[in-house]
Amino acid sequence: MPTSDFEPVIGLEMHCQLKTKSKAFCACPVVFGAPPNTAVCPVCLGYPGVLPVANREMVTLAMRVALATGCTIEETSVFARKNYFYPDLPKGYQISQYDKPLAVGGAVTVRAGGSVKQVRLNRIHLEEDAGKSMHEFPWEDVLTGASLVDLNRSGTPLIEIVTEPDLSSAEEAHEYLVLLRRLVRWVDASDGNMEEGSLRCDANVSVRPKGGTVLGTKVEIKNLNSFAHVKKAIEHEIERQVAALEAGKALVQETRLFEPASGATKTMRSKEEAMDYRYFPDPDLGALVVDEAWKREVAAAMPELPEARAARFTSAFGLPAADADLVCLSRPLADYYEAAVAAHPKNPKALANWLLSELLAKMSDADRHAGRMPVAPAVLAALVRRIDDGTISGKIAKELLVDLIATGRPVDDLVKEKGLVQISDEGPIRDAVAKVLADNPAQVATYRGGKAAAFGWFVGQVMKALAGRGNPGVVNRLLRDALEKD
Ligand code: ADP
Ligand code: ZN
Ligand code: MG
Repeated sequence: MPTSDFEPVIGLEMHCQLKTKSKAFCACPVVFGAPPNTAVCPVCLGYPGVLPVANREMVTLAMRVALATGCTIEETSVFARKNYFYPDLPKGYQISQYDKPLAVGGAVTVRAGGSVKQVRLNRIHLEEDAGKSMHEFPWEDVLTGASLVDLNRSGTPLIEIVTEPDLSSAEEAHEYLVLLRRLVRWVDASDGNMEEGSLRCDANVSVRPKGGTVLGTKVEIKNLNSFAHVKKAIEHEIERQVAALEAGKALVQETRLFEPASGATKTMRSKEEAMDYRYFPDPDLGALVVDEAWKREVAAAMPELPEARAARFTSAFGLPAADADLVCLSRPLADYYEAAVAAHPKNPKALANWLLSELLAKMSDADRHAGRMPVAPAVLAALVRRIDDGTISGKIAKELLVDLIATGRPVDDLVKEKGLVQISDEGPIRDAVAKVLADNPAQVATYRGGKAAAFGWFVGQVMKALAGRGNPGVVNRLLRDALEKD
């Protein structure tokens, strides 16, 4: 079968660190980058005889994600022990949820490659993170070949968000992750910081004959440290599986690792070597009960979600859907935009244009997500107001923006001080036009001889004569009048 006769089937599992102050089952603080083993206690160190207590805020944050994705929150869910041995897991099991997760159902709407798709969620469950094994040290010579364990991360609260196998391309998978990251940040459940490991993703990939209804043998890919890696790994894995099937080879269900250097995946363990975790309900923790009152309380505190907000920006402010979506890249950015519109309600479209093309271009990705803006919303509003009322030209405004960012001074003060007020009076513009025409008889003759393209050159000359402050509309009109005369 040629490649085009196969279709990929993808399901994603995303681990997402919840933004709580303390850990999942003890009072230790959740910290990143602290000296090793300084944020630990007998509970998260796994000492015998200690008792875990579930963190209420952890459950609340998970409920926010569940509500944001349209999941059903179960009244009763159960913490289970997932048993395995590893040096970063001293108590020999991870507390997770297994057959009774916190939330089920729900979906995320993904737009990719020109189509819209509902990616169904299978479940959202709670679990705790393990510690971290460290294999490299600055004092390498003393510890060559040794590994140490840092248990600061042990017991950090996570949710795992599992999709149904509804995705059918690497591009869709990437878009899903981008949307989900925006959502967990939007509802303040997670900082969504991939570099610090707040988001971790496993991709399950299979292929099957196009239009088939039976799922193919799946491969789970681990070690995906960025969204770009997820995309690359899926692309590579689809190619590998299709090539194997075309060569008449059977695929085996296995776990593979992505190797960033080669862009390929490599066998880690096969199904036969899969671990049996011997899940059972954790006897130290009672059932997790979420009553109606708690659900209502969490629902009442939910913000307007990104899609609804973008739709409102379109209907209330007349923004094109694509612009509204960009303005809703993050909640702080959408808040910024709305504050600017409140300060200058007459031109929401221009405010969006300035925000998207001028401000965001001057910002880092991290600043965009955090909404760390270079000028206050009122400053952007004042700048656009002065363009709208004809005080300054758009071109001058762009130059002015650089000064506004550098000095933080009021727009009107800078306009006055720098003599930037636009010249709209016909008198001085007419004088400048006359002088340019008189000084350049050869160009005038060329223009009148049919070289209409030379018009732009005249505009440039007149603008230069007016130190760049001429009102472009008036300059164009008077210049055309003068050139078309006789
Ligand atoms: P496991 O029991 O191996 O953990 P699950 O059924 O729990 O498998 O599914 C884990 C993830 O793999 C889910 O996101 C699911 O949608 C996805 N998945 C399951 N089967 C397939 C398949 N044949 N191809 C692609 N993804 C799959
Ligand atoms: Zn602790
Ligand atoms: Mg599973």
